[in-house]
Amino acid sequence: MTDPHKTVNINIRQDLFGANEDAASLNADLFKKHGITVIDIMGSVGTGKTQLIEAMCDRLHERHRILMVAGDLATNIDADRVGSHGVDTVQINTGTACHLDARMVRVALTDIDLSKYDVVFIENVGNLICPAGYSLGADKKIVVVSVTEGPYMIRKHPLTIKRADMIVINKIDLAEILEFDVDALVKDVREVDANLSVHKVSSKTGVGIPELLDSLGL
Ligand code: MG
Ligand code: ZN
Repeated sequence: MTDPHKTVNINIRQDLFGANEDAASLNADLFKKHGITVIDIMGSVGTGKTQLIEAMCDRLHERHRILMVAGDLATNIDADRVGSHGVDTVQINTGTACHLDARMVRVALTDIDLSKYDVVFIENVGNLICPAGYSLGADKKIVVVSVTEGPYMIRKHPLTIKRADMIVINKIDLAEILEFDVDALVKDVREVDANLSVHKVSSKTGVGIPELLDSLGL
């Protein structure tokens, strides 16, 4: 007899994440095959992800061929900005999805000749929570926080910080005027992961960008 109240617990989270990990490792294989360095850049809206990419592109132009993949709910604003620096761009409009996943990236790169590029910067959808849960197959995950977001961005996102390969503290040119304690933020990072690489930069003035690129091996 069938119990009309039978309950089946499906672990959707596990299945979704498992499928994404498989897709991410396919992406990683593809990137490796083409010898491309791929950087996944995460951070809230307004933290300066796009500005950071612009600053990095301006310094890498001469020696690397760059593709930018822009994840956004609805607009092309960021891709247009980076594109204005002479960088090729691909837009992914996620509609309602608040993060990129590995399959979106794969679909977006279909028809793109990856042998034309050395470096791919992926700007993830602006939020600091779920993008960290979805690997894209990138070589490095950078989390960008900035001095304009208040002092608790690290402490409030411990899982995201744990999954990051590098933390960038952006807009340090504004720290003094905002009386923002950048070193306290660095200390918060150290409490989550003592060995995580932290870079203090101003994408606007260029301070810290060469060291960041060095550390990315670019
Ligand atoms: Mg942006
Ligand atoms: Zn999401």
